[in-house]
Amino acid sequence: MSKYKTHEYDVLIIGSGGAGLRAAIAAKEKGAKTAIVCKCLLGKAHTVMAEGGIAAAMGSLDPDNWQTHFQNTMFGGKYVNDWRMTEIHSKESPDRVRELEQWGAVFDRTKDGKMLQRSFGGHTYRRLVHVGDRTGHEMIRALQDKVVSMGIDIYMEFMISHLLLDDGRIAGAFGFFKDTGKFVVFNSKSVILATGGMGKIWRITTNSWDNTADGISLAYFAGAELKDMEFVQFHPTGMVWPLGVKGLLVTEAVRGDGGLLTNNKGERFMEKYDPKLMELSTRDLVARAINQEVREGRGTEHGGVYLNISHKPSAYVKKKLPSMYDQFLEFADLDITKQPMEVGPTCHYMMGGVSVDPQTQMSTTDGLFAIGEIAAGLHGANRLGGNSLSDLIVFGRRAGSAAADYAKGMKSLPIIDQKEIDEHKDWLFSFFETKSDCPPSLVHTKLQDIMERDVGLIRDDEGLKKVLSDLDSLSQQYKNTYLEGNLQYNFGWHIAISLKFMLITAKIVSRASLERKESRGALYRKDFPKAEEEWGGKSVVIKNKDGNMSVSTVPIQPMPSNLEDYIKKEKEEWLNKQK
Ligand SMILES: Cc1cc2nc3c(=O)[nH]c(=O)nc-3n(C[C@H](O)[C@H](O)[C@H](O)COP(=O)(O)OP(=O)(O)OC[C@H]3O[C@@H](n4cnc5c(N)ncnc54)[C@H](O)[C@@H]3O)c2cc1C
Repeated sequence: MSKYKTHEYDVLIIGSGGAGLRAAIAAKEKGAKTAIVCKCLLGKAHTVMAEGGIAAAMGSLDPDNWQTHFQNTMFGGKYVNDWRMTEIHSKESPDRVRELEQWGAVFDRTKDGKMLQRSFGGHTYRRLVHVGDRTGHEMIRALQDKVVSMGIDIYMEFMISHLLLDDGRIAGAFGFFKDTGKFVVFNSKSVILATGGMGKIWRITTNSWDNTADGISLAYFAGAELKDMEFVQFHPTGMVWPLGVKGLLVTEAVRGDGGLLTNNKGERFMEKYDPKLMELSTRDLVARAINQEVREGRGTEHGGVYLNISHKPSAYVKKKLPSMYDQFLEFADLDITKQPMEVGPTCHYMMGGVSVDPQTQMSTTDGLFAIGEIAAGLHGANRLGGNSLSDLIVFGRRAGSAAADYAKGMKSLPIIDQKEIDEHKDWLFSFFETKSDCPPSLVHTKLQDIMERDVGLIRDDEGLKKVLSDLDSLSQQYKNTYLEGNLQYNFGWHIAISLKFMLITAKIVSRASLERKESRGALYRKDFPKAEEEWGGKSVVIKNKDGNMSVSTVPIQPMPSNLEDYIKKEKEEWLNKQK
């Protein structure tokens, strides 16, 4: 008998964003005993903040097709995407969007009743299905209604702090309720990580409080391989002013719906960087263009550039971008129907993550699956806007179904090692026992300073090595971090635990960035400013080997010729430009 309250499941899903909810529906449909745990309240996962839309080749307005979506995604990802995932994603997204509608999502429509689609950076056609600039909200509402109607068990405000293993395969997870501090063991045949991103490692970010890299660290310590962790997307347009909301997202839909970028001389500077796509170029390129304009003295008063949509009719702006209108009015006392916004780059999304099988999303740890932002592969070196929301529903469904099948194939539940839990619990209590004057919040601030300094838009060997050494010192300080209070609703304690996740992930991102000696997509190395052909054929893989961080490169599987044909010409043109 365990001394901890124990729940038994076939499929345990950690995370209630779009990916986790979609996976739960698929697992339950297959008859698996399924539960969702999430450290937020149901309905409050980061996905709810998504604004611009879901990318899917529905072809409502333009002659769109999966091949063009595939081609655009590969070009955006600078050809290091897992092409098998990109193919599946391009083909299956339209059906997954239609399904959302059947479950009650109400998308904006054309006059003749089709789903309205908008332009977004890097997409050839108008492709993003949306609801004004509140698409994530509608997606979560529809998925959540379905999950609740199916009677799936949900544990809210519950933080998973450790994954449990049985002879190298997954056995479940351990954690506690944030309000009471009560510990619970989940004994499960399969576990799906749907824990989202890691933006809170940086100070200037669009990400919500929950995005503290938990899943990356949980997977790493459970022996799973991580891939492409050097590719972190800095969205070109975050708010730069007022300081209290610096980093808050200004959706790409502003540019998609006609917004123009100018510098302090009134020039549409994107003409210099991408005369073909202009404001609708890929995010990596626009972010670096803004950075260059500001560095060369052509920035705004608060260190950004101008984004202007006030040339469009006021009613159009308010209808298409209601959240942006409210956001600027409320936080900056600025009416975007009359004045330009000031914007600059902000940490937004991780392209890398847990290395997964493209069909099932199982990681290299048996029984452990990963989906959504925490899974690597689909987006390569740079994600196109809108491709995350479609990623969640395409691969959420696949993983839920595969995890249920996997569980069916097991005769009994895996064995839980009580000693492993006791040791982990001792660590959770240890924060209350050390005596120092260093609270976890101070360690967090220092971590963010280090990452902003040298692991941002522009990196190099010297800076990255300095980061690794600074992270080692900070990790020592972290060991003595000091807490007061008890286990009940102790926010300091939650940060202290998350810091373990964030510190190791910061190190992983820095090590991976150091390893890739070229610039590609979102990774720009000052000391290797061009993309190198040989690096186009491999991924950086990081794994925990007996307590040490092992870093290696693995070849990307060659693409079949029928797919290669779709991307060949554009890829050659891009490679030629690198010479
Ligand atoms: C402001 C903003 C706007 C965006 N707009 C768009 C858009 O228009 N289109 C698009 O495609 N993409 C957009 N994105 C990106 C997209 O929203 C995210 O990549 C996506 O929602 C991630 O979904 P997810 O299901 O992987 O994780 P999330 O939605 O981040 O959910 C993670 C879940 O995991 C839980 N969790 C984490 N750690 C633990 C733990 N230790 N224990 C228990 N639970 C845990 C959290 O509580 C949460 O429930 C936007 C991002 C931002 C920040």
